[in-house]
Parts: sequence; C-alpha cells; structure tokens
Amino acid sequence: MPRPIGARIDLAALRHNYLLAREYARRRDREARAWAVVKANAYGHGLLRAAAALGDVADGFALLDLDEAIALRQAGIRQPILLLEGFFEVADLAVCAAHDLSIVVHSVEQLQMLRRAAQPAPRRPLPIYLKLNSGMNRLGISAAQLPAVRREIEALPALGPLTLMTHFAEADGSGGESCIAWQLERFRAMTANWPAAANFPLSLANSAAILRYPQTAHDWVRPGIMLYGGSPFADQDAASLGLKPVMTLHSRLLAIQEIGVGERVGYGGTFVAQRPTRVGIVACGYADGYPRHAPGGTPIVVGGQRTKTLGRVSMDMLACDLTELPDAGLNSPVVLWGDGLPADEVASAAGTISYELFCALARRVPVLEV
Ligand SMILES: *Cc1c(COP(=O)(O)O)cnc(C)c1O
Repeated sequence: MPRPIGARIDLAALRHNYLLAREYARRRDREARAWAVVKANAYGHGLLRAAAALGDVADGFALLDLDEAIALRQAGIRQPILLLEGFFEVADLAVCAAHDLSIVVHSVEQLQMLRRAAQPAPRRPLPIYLKLNSGMNRLGISAAQLPAVRREIEALPALGPLTLMTHFAEADGSGGESCIAWQLERFRAMTANWPAAANFPLSLANSAAILRYPQTAHDWVRPGIMLYGGSPFADQDAASLGLKPVMTLHSRLLAIQEIGVGERVGYGGTFVAQRPTRVGIVACGYADGYPRHAPGGTPIVVGGQRTKTLGRVSMDMLACDLTELPDAGLNSPVVLWGDGLPADEVASAAGTISYELFCALARRVPVLEV
C-alpha cells in the first residue's frame, strides 16, 4: 500500500472559480475576457489538468515558459496563450510564431530583439501586451522610456495587435481604493500623450483587483489565485467571495502517542505537554510541501474535526493534538488544507499565502482528479 497521503483536485471547482472571475469582470465590462493564469504548473495544480478542466470555457491561458505554452498547444488548446514575461532571446520569436503565442513586451531590449527578428523579412506579427511599469517596479516600461518605446514600435515593419498592460502591487491591501488609485493615475499619465493608446485594449486586473476594484476590469483580466480558490485578501475569506477550494491535501494518522506532563514532541522538543496529551502522527511533512515554518498551533482537521498541530514539522511527518478528539485513531483521515479547512487559514498561521502552499505541493504526492 502506498503512503496514505494524496491531493485531490476538484476540476468542477476550478471551472466554477474561473466562470466567477469572468462574471465579476463582466459586471463592469460585458465584453471582458479572462486569461486563466496557469503559470507555475497552474499554481501547483497541474498545467494540463487545469487546461483540460478549463479548455472549453477559458478565453485564454497565461503562463511563463515557452515549453509550457507548447505543451498546451500539443494538448489541443486553441485559445490565445500569453507569455507573461514575453520572450528571452531572438530565437524564441520563431517558436512563438509557430505556436501562435501572444507575448508580453516589458523592456526596450525586447523591442530591439523584435526589430532584429524582423530582418531580413518581417514575420507574421505576434499580438503584443506592452507592459507599463506603473509603480510595481518589477517589470515594465517606465515613463522615461515610453517615447523611445513608441519610436521602436512605430519602426517595426509589422506590428501585431497591441494591448496595454500593467500589474498592481497592492490591490490585495486593506487601504481601499487608494491601494490602486495611485497606480491607475500613473498608468493614465503615461498614456495621456499617446493618442493612439486611447484605442488599445487594456489588461490590468489580477484576482485582487477583479474582486475589489471592478472599475479596473477592462478588456482582458488576469485571474490567478482566485481560480484555485484562494483569497487574495488577508481580511476576507475565499468562501465569502464565492470561491470554492480546488486542492485538498489529505493524509491519515500513522501512529498515536500518549504522553505525560512535561514530555516533548518532535525535533527540538518545541512542544512541551502541559497536560496528559494524546498525540496523532500524520503522514505529511515538509517533503510533501507542507510548510516547515508552520508553527505548532496551525489548524488541521482530523476525522472531520478541527484541532492543532504540535511542535515542529518533520520531513515526512507532523504531529497534532488528539486530546479532545477521542474518536480519532490509527488511520483516521486528516485534511491538511482544502475541503473543510481553507488553505488561506493554514497559510496565515504559517506566515505565508495560499499561493506558496499550492505551488509547493511536492511531486511525490499522488494527485487524484475529482
Ligand atoms: C501571476 C500574475 C497574475 C495573477 O495574479 P493573482 O494574484 O494570482 O491573481 C496576473 N498578472 C500577472 C502579470 C502575473 O504575473
């Protein structure tokens, strides 16, 4: 028998969340379309699995790697595919064209490569998402670079359809509209002197902006975490946003220890029993993707009831408190996150975000689609 750990991926929930993202966007713009952001192996859920679940509903798929884009094409995906970091060298462009990919262009260097690739003869132009840096200061064209960028664009022998894009740094913050207003203002100021830009479609909103700032939901929105049922907000849970959990990480109890007052549990003995304690040992550790930095006290569900972890997470196991759960015993089912225990709660106890939990799901964990 294999080790009793596994992850269930609820494909219907994924579809539900995608359709909900698009519905939020369409409250503002009836024509809005939504890139399903499936980077990082669909946030740990499996790229081809996510593509199969969304294949007949998604308007397009957005990711990072050329190889992943090609895998989607080979799996029969016909919708637009957007490379969120664009291309890395001139040679990539022929591959992008061959697979009919759309590209983000975030730097002057990329534009220069586009120009070089067009010589001696222009190729079929690719749809371009021109990424403006409106304050995230990660990728994107700055206000100072914009005149040179416009000249580069105008000098391209063949130009595909152009969309303007930016990314919000603080749409998940709790400061209300001001979290995004300053970036929107900078974005507008950057494009104000570019008359043609008034007609370009826009792509601005990530999950947080789609959910809280529908005024940013223009032509193409870019939902990521919400597809997987995670809330982008520390102050609002996923269920209240209408999202359903997609990944459930589950396991079983492998052993039970009855310990007396003063006994310790696990590496470093960081848990010391203050009362006679019944300890459950769960077949799940950091090598499965459970965060090692989750402290004792992190919520966990055993036999359908909530309790807390005890002590440090080991590579293959972790401990939990069964003192108040007399019905729990060997082989009792355990949910680490997902159904009945939002990943956001576990992430928050561990000082991280659900994105990181999902992406860290280890390859050794068998995945079952439901
Ligand atoms: C990852 C990413 C997204 C999705 O962000 P979420 O917060 O997961 O919704 C959107 N746009 C870009 C450019 C990204 O890199």
